[in-house]
Amino acid sequence: MSFTALKLSVPLLRAVAEKGYDAPTPIQAEAIPAVLRGADVWASAQTGSGKTAAFALPMLERLSAGRRPGGRFVRALVLVPTRELAAQVGEAFRRYGRFLAEPLKTLVVYGGVSINPQMMALGGGADILVATPGRLLDLVEHNAVSLGGVATLVLDEADRLLALGFAGELARIKRLMPAQRQTLLFSATFPPEVEALAQGWLREPVRVAV
Ligand code: AMP
Repeated sequence: MSFTALKLSVPLLRAVAEKGYDAPTPIQAEAIPAVLRGADVWASAQTGSGKTAAFALPMLERLSAGRRPGGRFVRALVLVPTRELAAQVGEAFRRYGRFLAEPLKTLVVYGGVSINPQMMALGGGADILVATPGRLLDLVEHNAVSLGGVATLVLDEADRLLALGFAGELARIKRLMPAQRQTLLFSATFPPEVEALAQGWLREPVRVAV
């Protein structure tokens, strides 16, 4: 299996080559085709499995085919449990997307820092917003962002999101997004709470376990 066989476009293949990846990891080989065709995905994946590229590459591919509507809309939302992971995931989207002819706007927001620069940055919306749940809701309350145009949602490290007590925030965020959307759930473990989340948020998901 090669990245070329996954039918990613040349700018993304170039970014992958520049990173020095020879071949997709197992989770990438399984998840990328499913995400590309718009399916929901339920993936059991540890850190280090290459899970970030498993969602970021096909999301960039799909996003590069469309256009940002403007306003304070975001087209893709990635929810993460911690600021460290937010920064890492945001950096991955930027790196993998750097050779696209039409650059995509990736923003990263998390709590514990001043909200004002984040509000300013969100003017004009974003193609990809990587966020921790609490800060995202603060930004919604300040009318800095609208989730009404989210076409793709990622719950990254869903088990940690729940372990850190974000269940209430997730439920509120869910109500702000269109019901018609693609949802991708990545988790290292599947305790009953994560199973319930998957049941409630995913539609006929492709299951990926590596
Ligand atoms: P992740 O599981 O997303 O945190 O990724 C773990 C590490 O694997 C990161 O440093 C990635 O840059 C690296 N990585 C991701 N995909 C591949 C690949 N196909 N080949 C080699 N390394 C990769």
